[in-house]
Amino acid sequence: MKRQTTYYADDGERLTYGGAMSPATYYESSTGLTAGRFIKGSGYIYGFAKDGSRRSVHRIVAFKTQNPSLHKCGAKCRNAKGHNCECSCKGEFHGIDS
Ligand SMILES: [Zn+2]
Repeated sequence: MKRQTTYYADDGERLTYGGAMSPATYYESSTGLTAGRFIKGSGYIYGFAKDGSRRSVHRIVAFKTQNPSLHKCGAKCRNAKGHNCECSCKGEFHGIDS
């Protein structure tokens, strides 16, 4: 099944996928400080905005491109916890209220 993955920042801007780094690496590269062991978490996904700045990826949407149902977008989509979307918003609002 074909899907197109889109990455969104917290303000809804689409990001170009940048990569993933550990929280400690992210902390060090953004603050210039050395991270201690107190930072926990499995990873940090980042992308690039149109102006080239590095942004945190807030939502990942995998839109079904092969025969999507394109049903009317609603609360179920906006509150979705998973990544998969095939409704009329084409992922724009997917998981935005979850
Ligand atoms: Zn939707």
